[in-house]
Amino acid sequence: SNIPKIVILGAGYGGILTALRLQKELNYNEADVTLVNKHDYHYFTTHLHMPAAGTDKPENARVNISKLIDEFKIDFVKSTVVQIRPQDKKIILEDGTLSYDYLVISLGGEPETFGIPGLAENSMNIRSINSVRLIREHIEYQFARYKREPHRLDYLTFIVGGAGFTGIEFVGELSDRIPELCKFYDVDPALVKIYNIEAAPTALPGFDPELVEYAMDVLTKKGVTFRLGTAIKECTSEGVVIGEGEEIKSATVIWTGGIRGNRLIEEAGFETMRGRVKVDEYLRCPGTEHIYVLGDNSLVFNEEGRPYPPTAQMAMQQGVACAHNLVASIRNQSLTKFEFSNKGTVASLGKGEAIGLAFGKKYTGRKAAWLKKLIDIRYLFIIGGIPLVLKKGKFL
Ligand code: FAD
Ligand code: NAD
Repeated sequence: SNIPKIVILGAGYGGILTALRLQKELNYNEADVTLVNKHDYHYFTTHLHMPAAGTDKPENARVNISKLIDEFKIDFVKSTVVQIRPQDKKIILEDGTLSYDYLVISLGGEPETFGIPGLAENSMNIRSINSVRLIREHIEYQFARYKREPHRLDYLTFIVGGAGFTGIEFVGELSDRIPELCKFYDVDPALVKIYNIEAAPTALPGFDPELVEYAMDVLTKKGVTFRLGTAIKECTSEGVVIGEGEEIKSATVIWTGGIRGNRLIEEAGFETMRGRVKVDEYLRCPGTEHIYVLGDNSLVFNEEGRPYPPTAQMAMQQGVACAHNLVASIRNQSLTKFEFSNKGTVASLGKGEAIGLAFGKKYTGRKAAWLKKLIDIRYLFIIGGIPLVLKKGKFL
């Protein structure tokens, strides 16, 4: 048939928003839309610090894709993409092949380890339902192990590499979880150590200094030890080497030191910076008319020529803009330039505590924690309406 084929890779923030908008805006038989994702569920990355620490169930951080999209309008394919072939407009899946006229790449980021020896092999990451279930189980197991080998204090030492927003949100949850675990396993809380190690001279580099100070204060009181201006140089099965060769023994290293784009994009031959495509003003891959790149796979620059940080907020806005431009392309209408509108940043510091910069104002404590809840509920509403808010919202 002559109906154009749109293939969307990845059902994260960028991919799901693109799919939902296309489903709404396209008329019957205007295009064939296929959404590919390696799981049959969508997960809320922005909630993953909680199930990782065990302060919430992993179940509350995901929703089945079939509950979000109309399968009469969008073909959902549960499969893993193994290769993108722009030369013949094909996508190779682990179990088949798809061809496309228009492609949307929104496969999300991968942990960046900067070539630090042993890090990839000996650390865990907060990035998917599978990865956080592993972290949660691993942490509990260390408490059980310690009871059998009480000389092994490294079992009770938890290292978080990187004090960006992911690291900060995770240590906030972990410090809430530790007292529960200590009680359950009869462990003296004074023996447990949480280190948050940051290479930059400050936590949350680049963020509002007053709010950073507030966050560090809250977290330090909850038992987190910050090591600032101290880089992780090596990671082994016994712990980490930091700064000028100091060793910290630990059976648990969670790496939150940064993310990069997806390997498949480089392998496809696109020009990238750390796996990200510097997209044109319409969110397309430069030199192509029909390949859009979104979210953590894309690089968008602000007026000062600095790249925007990769966020869910960015990916969602890009998804909406991309769907709009796809529909315009199909109808031979002109495209709209993408402009990011920053609504602010709110980060959790554990139960009832958070920091936020929104609407030009600073928020801390309970107010900021409420704001965070509101943002999460707004997202549930955008993708799944009232039913999803009622189903998942109460847990957030
Ligand atoms: P993702 O949401 O990562 O989605 C990628 C999708 O592609 C996934 O469904 C994945 O399963 C799928 N996929 C990957 N590889 C393949 C493959 N080979 N084949 C098939 N499918 C594949 N941002 C904010 O704005 N606010 C926040 O509060 C916030 N909190 C965060 C908290 C944490 C703990 C973390 C880790 C991140 C947070 N972020 C936040 C950042 C935000 O989550 C990301 O920027 C956002 O998820 C990017 O969206 P995306 O669509 O590019 O990718
Ligand atoms: P990031 O890149 O923002 O932070 C990584 C941190 O690790 C940096 O502070 C960096 O200096 C540090 N680091 C790098 N190498 C190191 C080393 N060898 N030793 C010690 N420290 C090292 O990564 P992230 O925190 O995962 O965030 C990724 C993206 O997701 C960002 O854009 C962030 O804004 C977004 N995010 C937002 C929220 C929120 O808004 N609540 C929460 C989580 C993530």
